[in-house]
Amino acid sequence: MKKGFVITIDGPAGAGKSTVAKALSHRLSYIYLDTGALYRVVAYKMIQVGISRENREQLEDLCPHIKINLKYLGGRMRVMVDDEDVTDKLRTEEIGLIASKVSAIPLVREILLQVQRESGKNGGIIAEGRDTGTVIFPHADVKFFMDATVEERVERRYRELLERGDRIDYQEIKRDLIRRDRQDRERKIAPLIPSADAVIIDTTRMSVTDVLETMISVIKSRQ
Ligand code: C5P
Repeated sequence: MKKGFVITIDGPAGAGKSTVAKALSHRLSYIYLDTGALYRVVAYKMIQVGISRENREQLEDLCPHIKINLKYLGGRMRVMVDDEDVTDKLRTEEIGLIASKVSAIPLVREILLQVQRESGKNGGIIAEGRDTGTVIFPHADVKFFMDATVEERVERRYRELLERGDRIDYQEIKRDLIRRDRQDRERKIAPLIPSADAVIIDTTRMSVTDVLETMISVIKSRQ
């Protein structure tokens, strides 16, 4: 497989993007850029500093001072903030919801855009998120958009959190996911929509292996 492709995977929460992106990056020996983690870092910092999600002014003041540094260890992305590795602290439902809210703020997107493009400048990257094919890498070599029904996505998220040992409520997860979907799809800037040239994969009844094989065959056809 030729090195150097930029491959994007976008789609709503719970569509299975990160599982597939990780597996694909491993298979191709590409780096994996988890763009959602960057929005989560902003949310994490807001909680740490004590800024409410409604206080846009304070957030805009804070943003330029958040020093994000991405490290790739064996292709896996680690997020460093002010020299602290926060990667394992970002995957909570609370942080996800705040991240979704702050991701609609233009200044936040502008600051994070540079970090993302920098990671992709040499190719050999799987970028995963909501706007990686539409805004971050509009000239990507291969673009995917992964989707699944709301029921399936809630079920997956529920199982994931359960396996992690989190205390969770099914209805709450469903409510949060629908809210996050709405925020992500309806925002004015970089909304969640498939790029016109993306390959759309409905993963509802597909296994991870099936999705992966589908993607590999599309990538091979573009060599
Ligand atoms: O994918 P993840 O759940 O980590 O993303 C958290 C939130 O960050 C999303 O709900 C979305 O609002 C935002 N996001 C975004 N653009 C991206 C990736 C994530 O707006 N490329």
